[in-house]
Amino acid sequence: MSENLQYFFNSLISVKGVGNKFFDGLKRLLPNTRFKDILFHLPVSVIDRSYTPFIMDAQVGQIATLKVDVLKHIPSPKVRGRKIPYKILCSDDSGFITLNFFNAGNYLQRSIPVGAKICISGKIEEFDGGRCMSHPDYVVPISQFEKIAGLEPVYPLTYAITNKMIRNVVDVVLSNMPTVPEWQNDAEISFTDALKFMHRPIKNSELMYEAKKRLAYDEILANQLALALSREKFKSEIGEKIVSDGRFVNPFISSFGYELTGAQKRVLSEVIDDLKSDSKMLRLLQGDVGSGKTIIAMIALLTVVESDYQGAFMVPTEILAEQHFSTFTNLLKKAGLEEKIKILLLTGKDKGKAKEDKLLSIKNGSVDIVIGTHALFQDKVKFKNLSLAVIDEQHKFGVHQRLELGNKGEENKCNILTMTATPIPRTLAMTSFGDMDLSIIDEMPPNRKQVETKVISMNKIDELIASVSLQMNSGLLKKLYWVCPLVEESEKIDLSDVISRYENLKQIFGEKVALIHGKMKADEKNLVMKDFANPDGKTKILVATTVIEVGVNVPEATLMVIEHSERFGLSSLHQLRGRIGRGADKSICILLHSSRMTAIAKERLSIMKETTDGFKIAEKDLKLRGAGDVLGVRQSGIIDFKIANLEDDYDLFLAASQDVKNLLSFDKKNNTERWKNLQFLLQLFEYTKQNNNLKG
Ligand code: ADP
Ligand code: MG
Repeated sequence: MSENLQYFFNSLISVKGVGNKFFDGLKRLLPNTRFKDILFHLPVSVIDRSYTPFIMDAQVGQIATLKVDVLKHIPSPKVRGRKIPYKILCSDDSGFITLNFFNAGNYLQRSIPVGAKICISGKIEEFDGGRCMSHPDYVVPISQFEKIAGLEPVYPLTYAITNKMIRNVVDVVLSNMPTVPEWQNDAEISFTDALKFMHRPIKNSELMYEAKKRLAYDEILANQLALALSREKFKSEIGEKIVSDGRFVNPFISSFGYELTGAQKRVLSEVIDDLKSDSKMLRLLQGDVGSGKTIIAMIALLTVVESDYQGAFMVPTEILAEQHFSTFTNLLKKAGLEEKIKILLLTGKDKGKAKEDKLLSIKNGSVDIVIGTHALFQDKVKFKNLSLAVIDEQHKFGVHQRLELGNKGEENKCNILTMTATPIPRTLAMTSFGDMDLSIIDEMPPNRKQVETKVISMNKIDELIASVSLQMNSGLLKKLYWVCPLVEESEKIDLSDVISRYENLKQIFGEKVALIHGKMKADEKNLVMKDFANPDGKTKILVATTVIEVGVNVPEATLMVIEHSERFGLSSLHQLRGRIGRGADKSICILLHSSRMTAIAKERLSIMKETTDGFKIAEKDLKLRGAGDVLGVRQSGIIDFKIANLEDDYDLFLAASQDVKNLLSFDKKNNTERWKNLQFLLQLFEYTKQNNNLKG
C-alpha cells in the first residue's frame, strides 16, 4: 500500500487530542475508526452561523454570531420552586446581551471571566425587553470568530461525542491529506476538495452539490468496477464443457405431465448454453414464487450428470431441502431414472457414521446430486467433480457464500446458478449482483389462478372462523395456512401468539389443526409438514410462523390467513402469499390487522390488495423502506453505501456501469494513467483488486 493510501487507513487514535475515552466513543459511531471512516462520515445538515450583527440589530429567533465583552456575572439566587438562570451580562458598542445558564456551576467564572473579549454563537432571544441567549452553542475566544462565523456542519452523533469533537478530528485529518490521484475523467472537483467542501461547507449550493455527487460517483464507480472485475475473472476461468445427450433430461421432462412455459424454456436454454460453453456460468435466475424455477434447476442438474459430473442444490432451510429431495426423488421415479441417478440429502441433522458415509459417497463420486442446506458449505464436504452448484433463495446467503460453494468445484471449474423468488429492484440488482448474468421467468404456469387478497380487521375474527368452518364442512376448502408473526425474532422467541392461536383453533377444529414453528426439532417439523402436504393427511389447518415462508409447496391449500399482517414487511407478505394459489382452485389470502396501524403499514396492506406482481411489490417496498432493508441485505452485508443513495443516484449507477465498460475495454488493456489511478480508488473503498471476494 502506498504511503498516500495508507494515510486513509491510519487509526484515529493517532490524532492529537483523541484520547482513549474519546476513541471508545468514536468506536460506537464508526466501528472501524480509521481516517477514511471519519472522512466518509458526512454531515447530515448545516447550521448557518454567518449572521454577525451588532447586538441591537440582531433579529430575535435568528442564529447569530457576536463579538462581545464580558461585563458581569450574576449567579442565580436560591429561590424555591423557581428556576432562575445564572446570568452573564455582555455588551458591544451597540448595547447589552445576557447569557443565561440554567443549573450552571461556578466553572463559568473561570471559563468566561469578566473583562474577556469573546465570541458567542446561538439563538437570539428576548426577555424583559432586552436581548439574551440561553446556553450559547459556542463561547470561544475572540480569535476564533472567523472560524465560527460561517456554515457549521452537523454530524450524526452518539453518546459522549459532540459535534465539536467530530469537527476537530475531521479538521486535523483534512489538513494533512496527502495527494490523491485523479481517477475520474471530467470531474469538476477533485476528491480531496470534495471532501473539504462536505466537511467545511460553503454558501455555494452548486459547488456543494457537485462535491456530493463527485463522492457518490467515486463510491459507485468503485463498486461497479469491483463487480465487473470479479465477473471478468470468474468468466475467464475455463469451465468444464458439458456434453449432454439428453438421456436423462428427456425422459425427465416428459414425465412432468405439463409443458414448460415459454419463459421456462427460454431460461433453460440460457442455462444450458452457459453449461455447454467453456466459460463458467454465474447466473441469477429470478422468478416469482411458483413460477417454476425449481424444475429448471433440476433439469440443469441432470444435464451435468449426463456428462458424468456432480451437482449440488443448496437451499436455506431443512424443510425445503427435504421437500426438494422428495420432489426430486418422485420425479426421477416417474421418469424411470431412480436406478440411474443417485441423489442424496445432506443437512445439519446428519451426524456420526451416517454422515461420514454420506461425505464419502460425495467424495468418491457414487452420488450424482446432493441436496442440502448450508451444511454443504462445510470444509469437510468434498466433491469428486462438482460442476454445477444451484443456490436457491439466493438472498439468504451472502456473496461470500455463493463464491465459496463455487470454489468446491475441481480446480475452480464449478458453474453457479442462483435463484431468487424475491424480485430485486434494478439498482439493487446492479449493486449486489452486478457480477452475474440475469435470467427472468416472467410468466406463470397456465393453471394458476390469481390469489384474491382481502384486508380484514381483527374484530371480525369470529365471523372468519365461522366461515372457515362452514366451507370446510361443505368440502369447498381443503387446506389452509394460518400464520402468526413472532413477537420478537430474538433467541428467546416468544411463541405465545402462535401457540395460543393453535390452542384456540384446536378447540374448534380438533385433530385437523397442527402447529409448526422454528423452535421445533427438524423431525417434528418434517412430520407436521408431510402430513399437511399429503392430500389425505389429517392436518387441514396449519398454524405456523414464517417458517413456511420459503418454497413449501402444497397445492391443496387455498386459503391463507395472516394475523397481525401489519407487522410483516412487504416481501414477507408476498412470499407467504406465494404459498397459496398453487393448484387449480381459486385461492384467497386474508390479511388480518389490528385496529391501530401506522400509515406505512396501511399502505403496505393496500399494495398487497392491489397487486400480486412481485416486481411492483419490490419497487414499492424499496420506496417505503429504503434499499438497505429490502431483502435484509444490510444484515448480509452485501451493500453498504455511505455516500451514494440507491434511489436518488440511479443516474450515477447507469453512468458508472457505462464508464466501467469503457474502462475494461480500453483503459485496462492499455494500462492507462486512469487505470493506474483507479487501483487507488478500489483499495480506498476496500475492494481488493486481485480476488473475487467482495467486501461485506
Ligand atoms: P418456484 O421454485 O419458482 O417457486 P416450482 O418450481 O416449485 O416454483 O413450481 C411450483 C409448482 O408449479 C410445482 O408444483 C411445479 O411442479 C409446477 N410447475 C412448474 N412448471 C410448470 C408448468 N410449466 N406448468 C404447470 N405446472 C408447473
Ligand atoms: Mg422455489
